[in-house]
Amino acid sequence: MILADAIRTIPDYPKKGILFRDITTLLGDARAFRRAVDELVHPFAGAKIDKVAGIEARGFILGGAIAHQLSAGFVPIRKKGKLPHATIRVAYSLEYGVDEMEIHTDGVLRGERVILVDDLIATGGTAEGAVKLLSNLGAEVVAACFVIDLPELGGADKIRRLGVPVRTLVEFAGH
Ligand code: AMP
Repeated sequence: MILADAIRTIPDYPKKGILFRDITTLLGDARAFRRAVDELVHPFAGAKIDKVAGIEARGFILGGAIAHQLSAGFVPIRKKGKLPHATIRVAYSLEYGVDEMEIHTDGVLRGERVILVDDLIATGGTAEGAVKLLSNLGAEVVAACFVIDLPELGGADKIRRLGVPVRTLVEFAGH
């Protein structure tokens, strides 16, 4: 099975010139969903992962399944204002401007081994913000996992330069 074939591409969404890589078709395909989760976790079986951190919102779906597979806890990283308890916040860059995301201060403990999960890495701004949140709480970010990499945008290399190994399954050219 070719995972890339389970991902749908929508041209000019959410705006002209963007090729939106839609993983809802992959999630809806039982074999493709299982394969993606299995392949993402494969290197970390036995790696004693304490928590999986998922980035809102598609990172929650993949991250929950990955946490279950690794017998790890799950911690959400959310857009600002959504988490009910005490949080720390970080600004991160989007294509135009900045936004902020948050994690509960007790979401991860100092020294915990954490895997970060999202559906796709493009410029790496989102993942970089998430790594900062986890690092600021004293967690060890063991790896960052994404189903899709857009390598021309350099995000995976940006995260590797932070000292975090990156695992991706499908590459698409362009952005
Ligand atoms: P970035 O911060 O540039 O790495 O962007 C990554 C975030 O934006 C992820 O949460 C993705 O879900 C979303 N994203 C960016 N580009 C695309 C794209 N071409 N198709 C689908 N999602 C995208």
